[in-house]
Amino acid sequence: MKTYQILLVDDIASNLQTLVLQLEESGKAYNLLIALSGKMALQIAEQNPPDLVITDWEMPEMSGLELIKALKTRPETQFVPVLMVSGMRTQPEDLQKAMNVGAIDFLRKPINKVELWARVENLLKLSEAEKQQRQINTQLAALDQLKTRFFTNISHEFRTPLTVIQGMANQILGQPDKWALKGGDMILRNTNNLLNLVNQILELRKLESGQLSLNLVQSNIVAFLKYLTESFQSLAENKEINLSFISEQEKIWMDYDPEKILRIISNLLFNAVKFTSSGGAVNIVVSQFPEGVRIIISDTGIGIPAEELPHIFGRFYQVDTSTTREGEGTGIGLSLSKELVHMMGGEIEVESQINVGTTFRIQFPILQNAPREEQFKKIDPEDLPQSYVAGAATASPGSVGELPTLLIIEDNHDIVEYLASCLDDQYILLIARDGQQGIDMALEQVPDLIISDVMMPRKDGFEVCEFLKNDERTSHIPIIILTAKADHESRIQGLKKGADAYLAKPFNKEELLVRLEMLLALRRKLQARYASDALSEDEAVYEQEDDFIRKIRTIMEENLIDTSFSITELCEMVGMSRSNLHRKITALTGRSSSIFIRLIRLQKAREILVSTDYNVSEIAYQVGFSDPKYFTRAFTKEFGHSPKEVRKS
Ligand code: ADP
Repeated sequence: MKTYQILLVDDIASNLQTLVLQLEESGKAYNLLIALSGKMALQIAEQNPPDLVITDWEMPEMSGLELIKALKTRPETQFVPVLMVSGMRTQPEDLQKAMNVGAIDFLRKPINKVELWARVENLLKLSEAEKQQRQINTQLAALDQLKTRFFTNISHEFRTPLTVIQGMANQILGQPDKWALKGGDMILRNTNNLLNLVNQILELRKLESGQLSLNLVQSNIVAFLKYLTESFQSLAENKEINLSFISEQEKIWMDYDPEKILRIISNLLFNAVKFTSSGGAVNIVVSQFPEGVRIIISDTGIGIPAEELPHIFGRFYQVDTSTTREGEGTGIGLSLSKELVHMMGGEIEVESQINVGTTFRIQFPILQNAPREEQFKKIDPEDLPQSYVAGAATASPGSVGELPTLLIIEDNHDIVEYLASCLDDQYILLIARDGQQGIDMALEQVPDLIISDVMMPRKDGFEVCEFLKNDERTSHIPIIILTAKADHESRIQGLKKGADAYLAKPFNKEELLVRLEMLLALRRKLQARYASDALSEDEAVYEQEDDFIRKIRTIMEENLIDTSFSITELCEMVGMSRSNLHRKITALTGRSSSIFIRLIRLQKAREILVSTDYNVSEIAYQVGFSDPKYFTRAFTKEFGHSPKEVRKS
């Protein structure tokens, strides 16, 4: 229970005494403050704002009315309720007068103690409720302000790049020859800005909900910081700013999260360049201490006023002078940076002087627990949103003889066009315009790879994925889900439905090619696995495909001796059309279905060869070859040794 503080004001000591006694008699543990004049009351109230004031009306120098007026003008006592007490002024108009200046209640002398207790309790309750309401109101007002500021900034931040994108697109349409290159470049840069912005906001959200995790590597942070600084060189040069990197040590091995460091340092460097005019300098200095590593980023820019310094790490905060508003920004950068620094166990500080410059100091502890990476992962700040891939990829076809087929399931014409322009020299493309058509085509054509959008008419991408992954005919086909919903949940959902990879829109070509190549590589691994006669049990991921291959093997082994048992019979027993079975087997084993069936026969023959005394011709018949000579040729070709050699060894 809170002990309430009540300030009692009267110029007559005996009156005060009575009041104190009466209040003590109530049994409530009030904290009572005493003032013998209005002036004294003001002094006490200023230092120690009470929860309630009980004051006499008639006092020399400062009357009760004047005291109330004075209390109401001071911020710390503005809302403190006042109970006015009077022996003489008991007329209704007196009461009105007291209420007019802000008294909240009125008691006549002589004071009845029961009445006093009731009034005091009521007023305290009222004051408490009011206080809470006021707190809520202030919070709401602050939030409202924040929201307004955020939306104003954010819509500006969106509008600018959107305008460029729209404008340049029009230019290109009007005069393609003149604008295609330059315009395309600008559009790219601006989409990157937008993406970056969206990602920052998302990251902030994730931070708030504790969803952002650390991905530590142990690497040479000096090299990484140097590389990051270099990527700002051209930005600085354009503005004629001298950007330099200095490190006392050439190498500092420590754990850090490259993407988070990238965010932090790029924010600081970007601000430094943004708020420094041409001819100025931006320095980044790295040094090692017993306590850790220190990174100092300083500029000779416009500086930050001292009174603003405590706020600049606040969310959406911007020092709102005209110069800073010249530069674009959302006020997210620093608050995000600070939180990311803390996440890695570090500290960040700022020092600044108007028109002299600003210095940010970051310190991180040096830990060496994460896996060591000799070569730090290069991330291009421009590609920040999709930072995980860079570098060229040459997708090599995995199918036998011809280009692999790729089914694109996507209802947006532009995206299809774009995908086709990236892929049509490396894949035979099939296009489906909605989820249902996608499923139908996949069943009919059994492509080597599928790229599917999520939001589509009839069936969405997750449904497509679920269906195809659960159908034996298509379960082996790698599916890439392509979507604008890059958030964690939809990623998980996609992966749960069996998607093999996930690509956020907009993606770049390299990223797409790398993904596809990775999936094809995975398939080659799978093919090697199914070409061997015993399946290793370790990989539960392939369960469904293992079952399929096992089924084929079992059927074949049961019918080995039957030389007339062919693909036609096999199809019937598996319940697949000839072409579907062929495509599936080819995809899984890298061999045509007839060659794969022959392989099973030959593997069985090898087994019999080493474990029994049957001669070669007998074995050939046993595994379904009607011509022993052909059997020997095929066997030798497959295993590199003739049946006789195998028997000897
Ligand atoms: P943004 O740059 O998007 O506005 P930040 O959170 O990165 O948001 O920065 C907040 C504010 O702090 C900026 O708007 C600017 O007023 C001030 N500020 C940050 N860095 C500097 C700097 N190096 N020099 C001067 N002012 C700065």
